[in-house]
Amino acid sequence: MKNFLKSNISQESLAILLTQAPVALSMLMGNDFVIQVANPQILELWGKPADIIGLRLIEALPELKGQKFIEILTEVKKTGNPYKGYKELAYIVRNGKTEEVYFDFIYTAIYNDEKTEILGVSVVATEVTEQVLSEKKLADTEYKFENLIKEADYSIALYKGEDLIIDIANDKMLDTWGKTKAVIGKKINEAIPELEGQPFLQILKDVYQTGKTYYATEDKVVLESNGKLETFYYNFSYKPIRNSNGEVYAILNFAVNVTDLVLAKKKIEENEQKYRQLADTLPTIIWTADAEGKINYYNKKWYEYTGFEGVDSRENAASKILHPDDLPRATEIWSESKKNRSSYEIEYQFKDRTREGFYKWFLGRAIPIKDSDGNVTQWIGTCTDIDEFKQFQQQKDSFLGIASHELKTPLTSLKLYSQFLEKNLRRQNDDKNADVAQKMDDQINKLTSLVNDLLDVTKIQNGKILLNTSEFNFDELVTEIVDEQQMSTTQKIHLEAETIGTVSGDRNRISQVMSNLINNAIKYSPDSDKVLITTKLNENNNVVFCVKDYGIGIPENKKDKVFEQYYRVSGSKEHTFPGLGLGLYISSEIIKRSGGKIFVNSVEGHGSEFCFEIPKTKNPI
Ligand code: ADP
Repeated sequence: MKNFLKSNISQESLAILLTQAPVALSMLMGNDFVIQVANPQILELWGKPADIIGLRLIEALPELKGQKFIEILTEVKKTGNPYKGYKELAYIVRNGKTEEVYFDFIYTAIYNDEKTEILGVSVVATEVTEQVLSEKKLADTEYKFENLIKEADYSIALYKGEDLIIDIANDKMLDTWGKTKAVIGKKINEAIPELEGQPFLQILKDVYQTGKTYYATEDKVVLESNGKLETFYYNFSYKPIRNSNGEVYAILNFAVNVTDLVLAKKKIEENEQKYRQLADTLPTIIWTADAEGKINYYNKKWYEYTGFEGVDSRENAASKILHPDDLPRATEIWSESKKNRSSYEIEYQFKDRTREGFYKWFLGRAIPIKDSDGNVTQWIGTCTDIDEFKQFQQQKDSFLGIASHELKTPLTSLKLYSQFLEKNLRRQNDDKNADVAQKMDDQINKLTSLVNDLLDVTKIQNGKILLNTSEFNFDELVTEIVDEQQMSTTQKIHLEAETIGTVSGDRNRISQVMSNLINNAIKYSPDSDKVLITTKLNENNNVVFCVKDYGIGIPENKKDKVFEQYYRVSGSKEHTFPGLGLGLYISSEIIKRSGGKIFVNSVEGHGSEFCFEIPKTKNPI
């Protein structure tokens, strides 16, 4: 001050200095700290008008009561030691509102000229509220960011500078590396020396240089785990981080360990490979299709047989390979299967590419694979070459046709001779031998019936079983058959018949079916003493004829098979019953051709009920 005064600096200049200085200034005089000088900056900082000048500090800023500043001022005034406040918090009332403000300040003692006495304290202050608050905010964000990284489910690390110094690495990343926190602050190549020789360090350098993010999916990485090197698989990214000038200064590394997933996938691939190889060695054609039935795989056999290339669509393949006669049937069975999500089985002919114009028989099968909700996930199909078997079957059928035809003539003669013999013996009163001749005739009848069955089968196969439709009295036929059958059995045949009246159909063939069902009922119920026959007309004007027995019955899973050619249920008892397994096959063909249906209800061990249903008047097909 003294120097100022001595230099004769004008009051005005001092006033300018005071008002223009970019800091807040004040002089607080005496023990009560009377505000002698306060520049506009400090008035603004205090949020007070100029008329506070001349007041005691505590009067001007009563809010300072209870805060530390008066105490500090007193101390400075007493000791002469200056006090520096750094980012100090003060509560100041500005515009009637208490505000939280921060400022840097210096309190310095003001001496008298002689420097013998302290007259007051000068205050130089700068408000730093904004800076402090943004620092706090930043610290908060950093804290959150660090926590985020720490808690993340991913392995995260940040490499800084061209030397790629590990700046951040969360616990997961340290686990990944098999390292401790000690690696933080080290160069990555020194911290994880096993990365040397692997591509990652070079990739990191490239990312740093090019500024382009690098993404990797299921990349193999060899890392130390429990003291030994192990292979892992990671999905990861190296993302360049730029400063405000746009220059790369760090790389952020995100990584997820997908080792389990990759290993499981590899296992599946290996299995798939194994099954493909297996499928390729099989002599059967195998295909698979997606849920919609779109074919996505054929085994080697398909390509060998067809000579096709690539994965043909089902429609394409079918039209190229199938016999034109089989195509509509095959198309239909597939669309039915698809609709009902059920398996199918079909015999059809595939073009033989080795012989122009020839076809080979195949057995086609497909099954839908379903998930736990019953939705189809895929289809698996096979086509098995059954050509030889078919040819053999055809040979056998034609042999049976010829044989039964050839047997028929001598049998007819034999029957005539046996009847002639019996008659003669009876005439000679040789009843004993006549009985033998009659037994012979019974056996010839059985033989004839077997031969007839075989002939019928051949006829069915050649489509030659023709029905002679006429109108006949159904009730009479039933009674006739029942009486006839009753003569050859000790079991009681009960008849519960509704009056049906006239029916149009092949009387002979229908009587054959009735006899066959009654015969079976008697044959397969040796321990029972009755068979029940019912007839009725149902609501669709169909005639229903049923034969119920109380015999051995049929297992549930064999019920539908009994109508197949040569099929005989092979249980412990069945072999004791004679038969060829043709009767029901022939019966079902006759009924089908009569426009009706044949079916069975049975409980194994309790008996069966075989029924057929035919239209009363409808013309047979
Ligand atoms: P089979 O000459 O063997 O009797 P069928 O075609 O008439 O030939 O019958 C086929 C098979 O169905 C028989 O072998 C038998 O296993 C079974 N079957 C037929 N009818 C009956 C029945 N009433 N009770 C039990 N099983 C029967």
